[in-house]
Amino acid sequence: MQWTDLKARLLAVGQAQLTGEQADRYIARSAAGPGAGGRGAVFFAMGSHRVKLAISPVSTIEIAHRGNGIADLFFEGQRIPGHLLEPGFHCPDQAFITVTGSCIFSCRYCSVPGIGGKRKTVREIMEMVESVRDHVHAVSITSGVLTTIEEEETYVLEVIKNLASFNLPVGVSIYPTISTPDHLKELGVAEVKFNLEAATPELFSAMCPGLDYGLLWQVLDRSVKLFGKNHVFSNVIIGLGETDAELETCIKKLTSGGVIPVLRPLNPVGGLSGMPRPSAERLKKIFALHERALAEAGLDPRLAVTMCTNCTGCDLVPGRD
Ligand code: SF4
Repeated sequence: MQWTDLKARLLAVGQAQLTGEQADRYIARSAAGPGAGGRGAVFFAMGSHRVKLAISPVSTIEIAHRGNGIADLFFEGQRIPGHLLEPGFHCPDQAFITVTGSCIFSCRYCSVPGIGGKRKTVREIMEMVESVRDHVHAVSITSGVLTTIEEEETYVLEVIKNLASFNLPVGVSIYPTISTPDHLKELGVAEVKFNLEAATPELFSAMCPGLDYGLLWQVLDRSVKLFGKNHVFSNVIIGLGETDAELETCIKKLTSGGVIPVLRPLNPVGGLSGMPRPSAERLKKIFALHERALAEAGLDPRLAVTMCTNCTGCDLVPGRD
């Protein structure tokens, strides 16, 4: 089975049971992204390819840890040899940190508001990065919103000022104000990700009450001017109820504006538990659309140095998968 096909099928399930030798150091316990707040997740890798799967004792997929990270994945009667990656705080190779683990907003697909995490101090964040400095090539920062969008931005800017001493590329994904891209650029941030989340404004209003879809497009436009092509990203979830045509329109609008879409299969948590995950067939169809749109716009995800497009754990990424 080819990797793209295998990854699409694994992402359509999204979970695996973890058996065999003790594997604590390979388990990611994230405060952001798919699987946040659950039993944790593992990164299964084959060569340079990887996929992140949430741990579930009832999954039909099994990952058997043989020791020292060597693992076999059992799927549809096949044994697929590979290895587990050490996740650091959230994903391998990057110090990916959630600054504020709670949120005043209630986006329906997100489990962060229910986790009720706290805000990390600047000192805690510096110590976290220091502890993995030798194994990471980038720092990535995301955050919920503790009190207001403006206050969160101010706090994140303070964190970023301090991170400069590590001399690593920094990627930032927060809910923005209109001036967030300019403020981040002034501090030397390398890449930004502002998430549209939904393929249409109607779906966005239904999913993210109180947040502004039009503002996100303006901020993405400004970001491409400041950070350049291949360094601005936007998550769009596959499976919120959009049609393939709506998703294609959104993808092309992003790529023609110089933004690399991060097309994230729905992880049905939060207010959407009970909704189906997108099928492998749909993921492969969208992957082909994505690949074409990026090529037409002259965008290359392999040039990303931070965050999800560099990590590739949760999505099919053209050029990498
Ligand atoms: S793809 Fe993004 S959300 Fe998923 S593990 Fe990697 S950095 Fe985290």
